[in-house]
Amino acid sequence: MNEIDVVIIGAGHNGLTCAAYLAKAGLRVKVVERRQVVGGAAVTEEFCPDFRNSVAAYTVSLLNPKVIADLRLADHGLKIVERRAQNFLPAPDGSYLLTGEGRTLPSVAKLSVRDAEAITAFWRELESIADVLRQLVLRAPPNLVEGFGPSAIREAISALGTANTLRHLSLAQKRDLLDLFTRSAGEMLDERFEHDLVKALFGFDAIVGNYASPYAAGSAYVMLHHAFGEVNGKKGVWGHAIGGMGAIAQALARAARQHGAEIEVNAGVREVIVEKDRAVGVVLDNGESIRAKYVASNVNPKLLYTRLIRGDALPPEFVARIKRWRNGSGTFRMNVALSRLPSFTALAGEGDHLSSGIILAPSLAYMDRAFADARAFGWSREPVVEMLIPSTLDDSLAPQGAHVASLFCQHVAPELPDGKSWDDYREDVADLMIATVDSYAPGFAQSVVGRQVLSPLDLERQFGLLGGDIFHGALTLNQLFSARPMLGHADYRGPLRGLYHCGSGAHPGGGVTGAPGHNAARVILRDHRALFGSR
Ligand SMILES: Cc1cc2nc3c(=O)[nH]c(=O)nc-3n(C[C@H](O)[C@H](O)[C@H](O)COP(=O)(O)OP(=O)(O)OC[C@H]3O[C@@H](n4cnc5c(N)ncnc54)[C@H](O)[C@@H]3O)c2cc1C
Repeated sequence: MNEIDVVIIGAGHNGLTCAAYLAKAGLRVKVVERRQVVGGAAVTEEFCPDFRNSVAAYTVSLLNPKVIADLRLADHGLKIVERRAQNFLPAPDGSYLLTGEGRTLPSVAKLSVRDAEAITAFWRELESIADVLRQLVLRAPPNLVEGFGPSAIREAISALGTANTLRHLSLAQKRDLLDLFTRSAGEMLDERFEHDLVKALFGFDAIVGNYASPYAAGSAYVMLHHAFGEVNGKKGVWGHAIGGMGAIAQALARAARQHGAEIEVNAGVREVIVEKDRAVGVVLDNGESIRAKYVASNVNPKLLYTRLIRGDALPPEFVARIKRWRNGSGTFRMNVALSRLPSFTALAGEGDHLSSGIILAPSLAYMDRAFADARAFGWSREPVVEMLIPSTLDDSLAPQGAHVASLFCQHVAPELPDGKSWDDYREDVADLMIATVDSYAPGFAQSVVGRQVLSPLDLERQFGLLGGDIFHGALTLNQLFSARPMLGHADYRGPLRGLYHCGSGAHPGGGVTGAPGHNAARVILRDHRALFGSR
């Protein structure tokens, strides 16, 4: 008997979620993490003396309520608070849109009465489809299998469950679902709204982590992907984890450890051990071997199959296809330490808008141009920036009177053209991002007293996010649901026996959801029980 049942590669929040569920069910679990801290992209660090912030992911909504409840994350210290306002979109002409409970309709009406009438219907449309997604995120999508046998029967039953969920939709909702899965957000928004800022509010969600124009087919799905979350039971709302996103990872790690899982940091995996078509353990960077009945991978699928497993241990067709797995979100991430709060020309002084997601991208045309510019030049010279100032909600992040802000910037090329390296342009682009905020909030640049800058290359180096892809693979139709990470492997099982996917490269994809970790744990437990009975 192996001493360890499951070794998990990576202590991202999904690896930790998977570990906690498996350990809770009585399995002996070991998580090995390459970095010195757990959490992967959900991590809080001190980025300059006395200033802490979420390093990569920075805002919470998608974390699944079942995961929070099952693993008792509140008892393990997790506290999530709502933003005081949801989003603030200032425009260069001094107008603005401010959304949030009780605020959105009056604010939209000031810009366009017609849009104020249309927005409620659009929300309802998005919400009803988001409700369907909510029912699908915690179950494996239908998996395509060849031939007829126990796995085909199991999959047929599982597909019936999914079909049953979809059956409850009206024909009109099915049409909406098809639109949201295939069309561009830009087209859908142009059909419904007239004001640029109203379209930009939704359009921003369509390009977050999506290196594409809001007019690209499939961008409507990315918009929807950002709509299926909730905070403390309020659907579609975004909030802040006190202590930053690392607080989510820390609570998950506590839950996992409490149930007996072992978590080792500074323990990178260099190879998965494969014997007779079965994954039986891992070799760490320091040469240590860890054997286990099952191996679960929290890392990007392309990283797993092209760097951690010998090509000749895998079916050639599988290797050829996974090499084509599309990565590259086109995002650039900064944290800045601020000596004071910014004051926006469009809405001067302090107020609830400073606790919201501040979107600097005043129209769909602006976002479209930003993408075209990034494709041609390497980054958009008029970039899309979302700024969040979490210290307005959380006094644990900055010294009294000072603040920290996250800048999440869209539309930089994952790889620069003409062989240029991000190492040579990181600081220039960071200056541009700060200047962009400064153009809406004069004096911002002078208030910056420290900064942390992560280009796509840095995201790859630090977190193993290939091409800086925040989702472990683009959320395009050919990489979603039954095709995530590949048709025939959507059931969290890899092409080797004993090998499982528990990270964002599996359904339902990226974001701090805990869902792939939850779903993979269920499949591993099912297989374990089939082999060994209830223990
Ligand atoms: C800049 C940025 C901003 C984002 N903003 C948000 C946001 O605001 N809200 C949101 O919900 N989502 C956001 N996301 C997306 C979200 O953070 C990710 O999709 C999610 O955290 C991925 O979780 P994961 O556990 O699947 O993988 P990861 O967090 O990527 O974890 C994988 C782990 O594996 C480890 N690893 C890699 N290679 C090895 C190896 N060889 N051996 C051992 N360990 C290894 C890594 O170090 C890492 O800890 C953002 C992501 C980024 C990068």
